Order: sequence, then C-alpha cells, then structure tokens
Amino acid sequence: MNNFEVLGISPEVLKAIGDLGFETPTPIQEKAIPTLITGDKDLVALAQTGTGKTAAFGLPLLELIDEDFRKTQALILCPTRELCMQISKDLQNFSKYRNGVHVVPIYGGASIEGQVREVKKGPQIIVGTPGRMVDMLERGIIDLSLVRYVVLDEADEMLNMGFKDDLDTILSDTPDDKRTWLFSATMPDEVSRIAKNYMNNPEEITVGGKNTGNANIEHQYFVVHQRDKYLALKRIADFNPEIFAIVFCRTKAETQQVADALIKDGYNADALHGDLSQAQRDYVMKRYRSRSLNMLVATDVAARGIDVNDVTHVINYNLPDEIENYTHRSGRTARAGKKGVSIVIINMKEVHKIRQIEKIIKQPFTKAHIPTPFEVCEKQLFHLVHTVHNVEVNEKAIESYLPKAYDEFADLSKEEVIKRFVSVEFNRFLDYYRNAPDLNAEEKKGDRGSVNSGVVKLYVNLGQIDELNFGSLKQFIAETAQVSEHDVTWADLKNTFSLVEVRSNIVDQVVEAFKNISYRGRRVRLESRGNKEAGIPRTRVRSDRSGRGGYGGGGGRDRNYDRGGDRSGDRGGAPRSDFKSDFKPDFKKKKKDAGFSGTKGFGKKRK
Ligand code: AMP
Repeated sequence: MNNFEVLGISPEVLKAIGDLGFETPTPIQEKAIPTLITGDKDLVALAQTGTGKTAAFGLPLLELIDEDFRKTQALILCPTRELCMQISKDLQNFSKYRNGVHVVPIYGGASIEGQVREVKKGPQIIVGTPGRMVDMLERGIIDLSLVRYVVLDEADEMLNMGFKDDLDTILSDTPDDKRTWLFSATMPDEVSRIAKNYMNNPEEITVGGKNTGNANIEHQYFVVHQRDKYLALKRIADFNPEIFAIVFCRTKAETQQVADALIKDGYNADALHGDLSQAQRDYVMKRYRSRSLNMLVATDVAARGIDVNDVTHVINYNLPDEIENYTHRSGRTARAGKKGVSIVIINMKEVHKIRQIEKIIKQPFTKAHIPTPFEVCEKQLFHLVHTVHNVEVNEKAIESYLPKAYDEFADLSKEEVIKRFVSVEFNRFLDYYRNAPDLNAEEKKGDRGSVNSGVVKLYVNLGQIDELNFGSLKQFIAETAQVSEHDVTWADLKNTFSLVEVRSNIVDQVVEAFKNISYRGRRVRLESRGNKEAGIPRTRVRSDRSGRGGYGGGGGRDRNYDRGGDRSGDRGGAPRSDFKSDFKPDFKKKKKDAGFSGTKGFGKKRK
C-alpha cells in the first residue's frame, strides 16, 4: 500500500501524484492530511514554504469537493500572483485523472475578462489573491455563499502585505459553518487574531518548532566593511561555481544597482522589483526558472511566492527592515527536503541583528570567512578540472579533428597537456585574484566573543621590487618555514613590502623561521600585524570589461553565455566579459564610501 493511500487519498489522485514522483508524504502532509480529510475540523498549520503544504491542503480538498456540483465549494487565498498560479497548477496536476474538477486562479495584474469567463463556468475551487478577489466580489462576479472550505495560505505574508481588510471582507462573505485551514510560516499576533476570530477550535500542527526555520537551511553570516559588501557578494558567488541564488536587497533602487553591477561584471543576474511591469517580471522569472540567470536580485515584495526549487543560496545583501522577514527570505531555499544555505552579509555594527534572528528562527548562525583569493582560485580550478573530466564528448563530431590535435600534442606528456589546458582558463583567474584584498572585517568587540577567522596577517619587507609575485612569495615563505603552500592563503604585494595571510596554527612557526633569513642579500623582516590590516589601502584588481575570452569551464560558464544573448542580442557565441574581478560597482555613493576615485586615489592614499 502506498504511503499516501494510507492517508485516504483516492486512486485517481494517487496516480496523479505518482506521476509527479510523490511517494512518501512530507511531515506536514503526514500530519495535516488525516485531520483535513475528515472535512469537519479547522486547522492552524505552522509550516515553511517548500515543505509540501500545497499538497497537504490540496489533496484533502480534492477528496472533499463534489465534482458534479458546478459551484465554488473551496476558496484558497494566498498573497501573490505567482503563488496563486502555482497552487492552481498543482491542484490541476493532482486532479488530472478526476474528470470534472475545475480550478480557477484569480489574481491582479492580468486582464479581468478572462478570469470572469472562467468563474462563470462554475469552478469548484477558486485560488485567489485578496485584492482581485475583493474586486470580483464587489462586482458580484464571484459567489462564495456555498463555500465549504477556506484555505489561508501564507497567512502571515498576506497580513504583512496589508491584506488584513481584504481578508476580513472576503471571509465575511463566506458561510459561518465553513471549515478554515490556515497555513503560515510564522505566528505573529495578527495571524493569531485571524485564527481566533474566524476559526472554530482549530487543531494546531507544527512542522519544526513554532516560528522556527527549516532545519535543512544552514545559516551563515559574513562580516565585512560596509564598502566591501558588493565585493563580498561576488567573492561568495565565485566561490560557489554552481550557485543558483536569490540575492535580497532592501529597496528597489538598491536591487537594480546591485543587479546592474553584477551584469556589468559578467554575471548572469537580473533584478526583480516592483518598478518593473508584470511582463518584465514574468520575463525575468522565466529566465531564472530556466536557469539562464543564476542570480536573481530581488526585493522582499517582488520575491514573495517565488516557488523555484533548487535555489542553492539565499543571500541577504542587506537584512530586511522587519527582521521577521528573514524567515520568508531564507524559506526560498531548501525546499522539498533539499538542503540550502542562507547567507547574511553584514557590517560590523550589524552583528547584534544576527542574535535577534537566531532567537526568532531558533537556529544558530555560523560565522563564515569570506574566501581568500587563494581559496576562490583553488575552488574554481577544481571545478574546471571536474568539468573537463566529466564533459560529454560528442565522439562523432570531434572524431575527424582529433588526429591533428594528437599530432600537435605528440611531444607533450599527459601531465603537460593537462597543465596547459587548465592554464588556458586559469592563468587569467589567477591574474585577476593575485592582488585581491581580504574582505573579512572584525566584529565589534563584545558582539560575539573572540573572533578567530583562522588566519593571521603578516607583514614582510619583500615586494614587487624584489621580483616576487603571489606564487613565488608564497613558495618562499612555505619553503623557509617548512609549511604547506596551502597554509599561505593570501598575499597583497606592494612595491617594497607585502601583506601575507597564513593559517593561524602555523603563524608561530613562520615567524620563528624568519628570524634570521636573507633574500638576495637583504635581511628579511616578517612580523605579525594581527587583523587590523584588513583595511589596508587596496589595489584594485583589473576588471575585464573588454570582452576577453571567458572562464568557460567554471562558474562563469552559464553567466557568460547567457548574458550576451539577452542583453545585447549577441546570442550564443563565445563568452564575453566573464571573469569577475573585485571591481567596485558603479554606484557613485559606493565610490565615495570606499574613499577613492580611480587609481590615482589609491596612489595618494598609499602615500
Ligand atoms: P510546496 O511547499 O507545496 O510549494 O512544495 C514544495 C515542493 O515539494 C514542490 O515542488 C512539490 O512538488 C514538492 N513536493 C510536495 N510534496 C512532495 C512529496 N510528498 N514528495 C516529493 N515532492 C513533494
């Protein structure tokens, strides 16, 4: 017996959800379906988005409605057009083997005529957003007098979005003896009030703790200087070559600025906010869903109801004004039992907000370290190697070209060939990251106890003038101190000196080893500089805006190919501006914050 069969789901619906790959009920389904399928109970269910709640209420509803009766028997209210369409689509899929079930979505931002026509056909289930529902009720188009079941989905979101009065209007048009099923991710007072006023002794079920987040989400925070937030965002993206993220900003303007800067820097990103027309928003979402975009930069309102599965990272570029909204943001990842990461990029003064969120979600945050340039390069290199290793070879197409290629490489060993292939892409990557700065900033004292980022910064009186570069300096330090080169994680080479980062467990060994060392006849001075040097005047890394060849094998692959096509009509073809350097976005304000204006400014500051 199928697990859903035990819950009382009929064979036609079982077959339909079988087609969708539903074999085992999710926890919310396991708890809610037996209660709801009896049809005589009210329910308050606390569950995050992505936990399978649509089927939790949708499957019992389909068992309870009478498909031969062409009147509206169930009303589902939800906050956004996207969610409304998604719920309708899910219900249509669940009922595809049940003839006569008619589900109609009613939402704003689309022509009302088509919806009126659909409503006149007598759907048993209406899924609506509150605003358009009130509109249709006031025009006398919808009759709710025979409704037996009302579902309030994402009730907290509906209230957050200011639909309280609309909900009151709609609910007062439904019969008193209907059943009400309320689903909400959080339980603020407003939602409790709805439950109290409109529900009759509801059963309460919770998946996870009350007001807690999804346990499959790993929460991380990164502390950077305010001016480095954008660089940190890019660093995180570069460190995660398979990233498929939603980046949350606080305002429409900021959303657009961050998206524009990412696009300019060669990422497959775009903005989603309320200043876009519905058609533009649909277009952006279509590209995101199809993964032509791998970073969607969005405001809270615009991103509500986004139900894209497989989002790997939610990135809080700025925290929401209402801290409670963090739960909604992070709920966009780790859907359907998958794992996901929710990242917060904060400045030093904001660390206390992490504490507040921890209290709300009842889950701890991990303080994460913005990857060093070395770590990014290492990650990208192995991603490239892995991609090359697993590439699907079109034997037939490539066959005739290979003899010539083999000839060309006849004098090289396998190791040499690998080294050269990888270097084609990787040299440029190394080049860009060579002088990229450390972006980690110290938390304010007392915010979170002692901060150990795991690395220590050292000053050394060797620099470019000594004909050293990142690689050779690293090698020199590692060999002298007899440590692994991997333990030297970063270096910022100036003309006459350098700042070097080494793992903290070997710092004493390195300092000790350099007590009596010379380089080209000059005494080497190497000493600890603690973490203070994070704010050193930084060298800007060149940005490739000129359309050089791409870092095709790595994370750049998707973003590169798509961008040209969508933005400039240069469909397909070679990757363009691809490699993401740590270049500032073009925000005027940012430049000012960063205290420089172009290369000259740096020169001045360094003096
Ligand atoms: P929801 O929370 O309803 O938006 O569901 C999140 C995702 O989980 C959707 O893609 C559903 O298709 C999927 N899903 C829901 N229930 C199950 C199940 N029992 N087994 C597998 N996938 C499911």
